[in-house]
This record gives sequence, structure tokens and C-alpha cells, in this order.
Amino acid sequence: MRNTIVAGNWKMHKTLPETHSLLDELIEKLPTGKQTEIIVAPAFTNLSNAVAHLEGTNIQVAAQNMHQAEGGAFTGEISAQMLLSIGVNTVILGHSERRHYFQETDALLADKVNTALKHDMRVIFCIGEELKDRQNKQYLNVIFNQLTDGLFHLTKEQWKHIVIAYEPVWAIGTGETATPKQAQEIHAFIRQEIDRKYDKNLANSTSILYGGSVKPNNAKEIFSQPDVDGGLIGGAALSADDFSAIVNAI
Ligand code: PEP
Repeated sequence: MRNTIVAGNWKMHKTLPETHSLLDELIEKLPTGKQTEIIVAPAFTNLSNAVAHLEGTNIQVAAQNMHQAEGGAFTGEISAQMLLSIGVNTVILGHSERRHYFQETDALLADKVNTALKHDMRVIFCIGEELKDRQNKQYLNVIFNQLTDGLFHLTKEQWKHIVIAYEPVWAIGTGETATPKQAQEIHAFIRQEIDRKYDKNLANSTSILYGGSVKPNNAKEIFSQPDVDGGLIGGAALSADDFSAIVNAI
């Protein structure tokens, strides 16, 4: 059986007081009895406070990024050990905004993944095609290359710490969502490629989340696809009502 997960990527939103208010609202509104894992990823400056604030709840905290080096002269960067030292052991890597605005390549991301896994962290690894790839019918190749270059060097044991988020770039923050059929096609493709590279057991136990304009009104249909195991949520994660409605849609 696979874990179902709903993770909220808060991006560069929310000051510290705003973070506390949103967390309070989430604690009040999110369901407590569900099997689904619930994760929030506030900004670096608010992670430590978020961990303390959420102690004793069923809401986990993730970072939105980290550096691949153990430490050193990398002004402005954050290491795996720094995250672990404040109780954060999950990190989102390869988000399309990191790939696009910060030129993060698959090779760099593979390094980041290695560092995270070396420290026994869990990685939510984002992959997804751009609009032009879909229009040129190259999207499966793009997904395959991102998987191969970012993750297929890992051992089966290491894969236990990997969650994949399929996030078509054309659907992120645009209000445009992949249809449930489009999402299912890619999720099944990802699972098939994990099976081809490793085995069915691993393919069937890897959680694959969908991300891209998931809202309360489309979450149920997307999450009901057999290979969709939850979501990585951007805009709608900034509203406790929307985020809890999305969690409840699983
Ligand atoms: C994201 O940034 O990971 C994302 C899915 O954003 P949104 O839900 O706003 O499209």
C-alpha cells in the first residue's frame, strides 16, 4: 500500500506572524483521523517556528529547497544538517521554479538528492514538462529524462525515501489543471518506468503526487485516479479552508 500525502508549498509567502495564524487555522480545520500525511513547507525563516508550533499535531514540516554541500562558503544557502537540526527531515527538490529561475539542472538536483538521502531525509522530487513539450508531444521524453537523470542512479533502498510530484509546468499557478486523464497517463507512465528500472514492488510502493492548480473543486476527481496518491499544492495551500478541503478530498 502507498502513503497518500497532501503537501502545501507556501513558496515565498507569509511572514512569521502570518505563518503562525495560518498554522493555527490549519490545526483547527485539518482533519485529524485521516491516514493521509499532511505536510506544509513554509519559508526557511519560519521553519523552526513552524516545527515548534505544530508539535503534537499530525502536520509535518518540509523545506522548499536545500544546498547539496555539507556546509561551507555558500552565502545565503541552507544545508541538510541545518534542516535536520531544527527537526525538518523532508525537503522538496526540483520544483519547476527552482529549475527555471535558479537554473537547477537534473545533474545538480541529483547531487541534492544524494545529500538529502545521505542524511536520511525524505525527498519530494518534482518533475514535469513545459507547455512546449506537451505541444511537441515530447512530454513523456522530458519526464523520462528527469527521472533518469535525477533519480535512477539511486538504489532500491534509497527509493524508500523518495516521493515524486508530477507537476506540469503549464499548470502551476496558472489556474490550468491537467485533466484527471492527463494526470493519470503520466502517473502510470512514471510507475511503469520505475518498474522497468527497478521492479513492480518499488513502483507500486512509491507515492506519486500531482501538482498544478489543484483546488477544492477539482481535487476529488484528480485524487480518484488510480495512480495519483495525493497532491503538492501551491496557491490553495495558503488558505486553511481550501487546503483542508483538498485534504478531505482524498
Ligand atoms: C506548486 O507550486 O507546486 C503548485 C502546484 O502551485 P499551484 O497549486 O499554485 O499551481
